[in-house]
Amino acid sequence: MSTEQALREEIVAHGLKLTPSGLSQGTSGNLSIRYGKGFLITPSGTPYEQIAPADVVPVDMDGRHEHRLRPSSEWRFHRDIYAARPDVHAVVHAHPPYSTALAMCRMEIPAAHYMIAVSGGDSIRCAGYYTYGTQALSDAVLQALEGRLACLLANHGMIATGATMEQAMWRAIEVETLARQYTLALQIGKPVMLRDDEVTQVLEKFGNYGLMSKKESSPST
Ligand code: 13P
Ligand code: ZN
Repeated sequence: MSTEQALREEIVAHGLKLTPSGLSQGTSGNLSIRYGKGFLITPSGTPYEQIAPADVVPVDMDGRHEHRLRPSSEWRFHRDIYAARPDVHAVVHAHPPYSTALAMCRMEIPAAHYMIAVSGGDSIRCAGYYTYGTQALSDAVLQALEGRLACLLANHGMIATGATMEQAMWRAIEVETLARQYTLALQIGKPVMLRDDEVTQVLEKFGNYGLMSKKESSPST
């Protein structure tokens, strides 16, 4: 069972991995884990190296909090993902270069590599552009995440979700790797897309592959 303190420490530890893994830098991006009747989320505008476990902000499903620090400006899409998706227990938002470059061109990532299955489907959609922190952005995110576990955000970045924070971080890195590979392939030639049946086979196999097979085990819902 994960205590609130353990989850706070988990958010801090994974926040520290964002810059070395190339997923984000400075204060861009944010992390959350479902907890109690809401979720725990990184504070707004704070470099990851400066976030202590006590700085992580508990927010309820109405967006209320009593912390001295403000929660991430993106608390709305974190909240709305938890409300709409009982399978999701952790959310990673970041601005990694290749995912963001595709999102700046408002392109989605298609099924040009079998690892597209990390998205839970045959593509990683790109949500429309809306100002950061708005309900309009959150609404667009939920639409792009329909039947998916990750999406791009036009002219902004990407979101990866998971049954655990470890899984959401793994998925975020896989999405950025797919974005890099797809961008390279576009420079060389015309990537060949996998057929629907080929993607379906991988989606079926992924049910018991590596981190994909790990479901949330703590009763933190
Ligand atoms: P916060 O510092 O408020 O979490 O904002 C960072 C970000 O990426 C906004 O989209
Ligand atoms: Zn952002």
